[in-house]
Formats: sequence, structure tokens, C-alpha cells
Amino acid sequence: MEEFLLGLQKPARYIGQEWNVSKKDIDKAGVKFALSFPDMYELGMSNLGLRILYSLLNKIDDVVCERVFAPAADMEKIIRDNQLKLPSLESGKPLNEFDLLGFSLGYELGYTNVLNILDLGSIPLKSADRGKDDPLVIGGGPCVMNPEPMHEFFDLFVFGEGEDVILEVIDLYRSRKAEFKSGGLSRMGILKLFASIPGVYAPLLGTPVKVKKRFVADLDKAHFPDKWMVPYIQVTHDRITMEVMRGCPNRCRFCQARSQYFPLRLRKPQTILEQSKCLYSSSGYEEISLTGLSVSDHPGLNEILPEMVRFFKEKGVSLSLPSMKPKTSLGGMTELLATIKKTGLTFAPESASPKLREALGKDFNEDDFFKTLEESFQAGYQHVKLYFMVGLPGEQDLDLDSILEFSARVSELSRKVSGRPAQVNVSINTLIPKPHTCFQWFAMLGLEEMKAKQDYLRGHLKNRRIKLSFHNRFMSFMEGVLSRGDRRLSSVILAAFRKGARFDGWDEHFDFQRWMDSFSECGIDPNEYLKEFPADKPLAWAFLDPGINQEDLSAGYEKIKSIL
Ligand code: SF4
Repeated sequence: MEEFLLGLQKPARYIGQEWNVSKKDIDKAGVKFALSFPDMYELGMSNLGLRILYSLLNKIDDVVCERVFAPAADMEKIIRDNQLKLPSLESGKPLNEFDLLGFSLGYELGYTNVLNILDLGSIPLKSADRGKDDPLVIGGGPCVMNPEPMHEFFDLFVFGEGEDVILEVIDLYRSRKAEFKSGGLSRMGILKLFASIPGVYAPLLGTPVKVKKRFVADLDKAHFPDKWMVPYIQVTHDRITMEVMRGCPNRCRFCQARSQYFPLRLRKPQTILEQSKCLYSSSGYEEISLTGLSVSDHPGLNEILPEMVRFFKEKGVSLSLPSMKPKTSLGGMTELLATIKKTGLTFAPESASPKLREALGKDFNEDDFFKTLEESFQAGYQHVKLYFMVGLPGEQDLDLDSILEFSARVSELSRKVSGRPAQVNVSINTLIPKPHTCFQWFAMLGLEEMKAKQDYLRGHLKNRRIKLSFHNRFMSFMEGVLSRGDRRLSSVILAAFRKGARFDGWDEHFDFQRWMDSFSECGIDPNEYLKEFPADKPLAWAFLDPGINQEDLSAGYEKIKSIL
């Protein structure tokens, strides 16, 4: 493989050897585990879940865990033209020589990359076609909130947090490996054994009655890497990511992450400070981001931030926070952060209409928001990013107007404070009524409706300080279909892959017509998946229990209908 590297656009995607990478002898491993994020290296190396599992697995003496990402087109061509096999980054071992291959499924538009990785690694695409010499292919991550469209390609799905269950998977495999590899235990036999682990199911055995989500009970004691791998090329999130919480105290009715990461768990301030310092000293990174679903709700933030600022300021390390909830108590903190680095401010009101916000269940107080914003402008911030959604049931043109008015008000507040209007970047997404949310039964906008809303907003924008950006509506459509889909969609995904679909989450690679051709070929109308689902019929994902009370979801659904 080395002889081809210099001809590639970014060889560093494939060489491994990064700072703090695990260096274990794979040929001496009792269990060989390949861990994959099915997208480009730059995105995969920005994924916290992958880093946690990589570190955790490599702490086990007889386990070697190595990474593999989706190869770009130039690398794929080399592999196919030369009849090579996709190797892992660390040892260069071909994928089909691993015992277990785990995919972190973060985004439905990465599904065809999963098939490409299997294909390039010489692993049969379908679970039913694999034998004892093939790895067991395991799927985990956010998409397992409804993995049914991918059921044909996975031997096992793990529902919930990998750290909580992966050691049981390893122990079971280790204890049965010899029997399985010698043919004494059939593939179906070993799948049945794995399916007895809570949170794990084997789609080849049919749809189970109930699978309960696994989660780590005590986040403070949960494994977190003590060394941070440092890539040789710039990656998407090129910084240390310090997870401060899992779960969210808020109850936004549209939010799948709330169900996925339920219940709320916090890391203690002391642990966060110690781990941040440890990761900094092992990596030398110049930026640390505190991450979690709603970081500004962490009750220890008043303790964490001043100490982090004190420690990192003199080292020239900047801190960043994700999208913040406007709270008056945050004013002092934004000022604190501004002393180190004036990154932009990000807020997600989701809707500018109080009525729609109530339907969404979004806890967003406008008075607090504008007060926080004023303090932030006084502290020197000049750029604001706002996230809104369109496509809520009952939405009117007036609700779209209010997005533009709200954004203009944000910009003008800066003029009042500093004499200059702020640049406001407004990102507009279409609501995807996702599984395990109160919106899961509602219909999603079709392509023409999405276009009409986007055109309306573009046509009514008058303020030059406001920049609108829209998520690609064809990709939203596909995300809606795949996330709300059922087992029939495996054939469509396979057809799209056979027609050349790769990196569907990338605008420049996404080909909507190819997907439509694949639906036609399989005799499936994708629009069926965007229609309203009857509330009295079981949903494709109903057997997955994320721990959220189903009556709460139904009550939320009724509440939305009563508001709209
Ligand atoms: S949208 Fe954000 S604040 Fe609301 S429940 Fe989801 S993660 Fe929490």
C-alpha cells in the first residue's frame, strides 16, 4: 500500500502513526477489533465516541483495537485497481482478518460508506452471507435509534452507549472464539449468544420484542481517554473535546438526542478539570471544547470555567463552548471566555414564534436571550450564529417572517451596544420528525414544500448583515426517509451503493437521482416514509426502548396537536 501513498490527495489519512496512537502487536492479540467511523478520516478523528472506545478497548491486555475510516475516491480506486484489501490504520492488517468490526453509525447518509468499507475489506455485505472466517460486524451509535434500514448488513446492533456493553461483547467473543472459528459453534449459534446480552440484538434472528438501551450509570467514573491522539493533518474538530455531561435536562419534543442520551448524567467539575489538564499535557493542543448536549445547564460551570481560564490562559489555550442556552447567569462567563478567545456565539432558538417554540417544547426565554446577548456584545463578541427549524406542523408565512425579524433584532442590538450591527449567520434546517421523539408520528415536509419555504425566506430577506444558509433539502429528504424507514430499505441502500453512492453526507458527492433510481428499482416510494404515521400502529423502531416513557411521548404528541 505504501507505494501508492504519495499519489494520494491526503496520504496522512491512511498512514496512522499519529501522536498517542496505540502501539500493540496485533499478531499477539486474543481479540482483534477494527473500529470504524464510516466517513473521511477528518470527521472520524473528530468523533468522541470513537476515541473513547478506542482507548477503552486498547486498555484490555489481549485486545487490539485499530481504526479504519472511509477511503476517499482516490484511495478506493487504488484498492480496486490493484485488488488490494482495505487495511486498518495501525498495523495495515486487511479488514477481513479482524475478529470484530464495529461501526459507529452517526448519520444516515453515511450508510453507503459502510457498504463500501465492507466491500473494500473483502467482507460479504450481508450478514446472511458471512461465515466463520469473516468478522462479526457490529453497529452502534446514534443511528441505532432505528437501524432497521441497515438490518441486512449487520450481524449485531448495540443499542446505547458502547462503553457500557462492549466489554461484555469482548468477553463473550473471547470465551467462544475457538469454538466458533473451528466450526463447533455456528454463526447463528454465536449470534444467539450475543443477542442474550442486554442491549444487543442480531437482526438475522428477526425483530426482537424489546431491546432496552444500555447506558453508563456513573459518567464521572466512566472511561475517558487519558491521552489525546493528534492527527498530522487538520481534522474537522481539531481540538480536545472534553465531555462534561451526557443527556439533557431539557425536554424539547423534536429532539432525538434527548432520548438517545437519556438520562442526564454529569461529570464532576474536579474530574473535568483534571482530565482537561491531563489531555492538554499529553497532546499540546491549543484549543479545548467543553461538550455535551446543553453545556450551559451544567450546574458546575461557575466552578469549571474560571479555573479553566486561569489554567489555560497563560498557556495560550483557547476554550470554546457549543450552542448556549441564554441564561442571565451566563453573562459573566461569556465575558470570561472572551478574555481568551472571541469565538462566535451560537444559539438555537429553533423557532422565532413563541407558539411554535411552545409546541417544540423549547425552553428559550427571549428576555434572557437578549440580555445575555447584550452582555456578550459588551464583552466584545461580534458574530452570532442562530439555528432555526422550518416545517413544523401548522407553520405559516408569518412564522417565517418572524425568523427574519428576530435575526435583524439580534444584529441591531449590537449596533446599540457597540455602534456596529452584528453579522448574524442564520442556519435553517427542515424539521425531521425522528424516531423516539414526540414528533415521530407527524409528517415531514416534501421536497416542493421545503423549496417553497426556502424561497420565501430568501425572497423576504432585506438585511445585508444577515446571512441565511439552508441544509440541502434533497439530503434532508433522504435523512428523513432513512431515519424513519423499515427493513425494506436495505435493498434500496444496497442498490444505491451498487450504483456508486458514497459520501452521501457531502454535497459534492450526493446524487439524489441515483437514490430515486434505486427506489424505483426496488419498487418503493420514499414519500411513504415521510407521511404521517397512525398513532395506533406500531412503528418500525417500537421494539427499541431508550428509557423514555412511551406515554410521555404520546402525551407530548397530543400536546403539540393541541397547541398548533
Ligand atoms: S434540543 Fe438541545 S436543549 Fe433541547 S432536549 Fe435536545 S439537546 Fe436538550
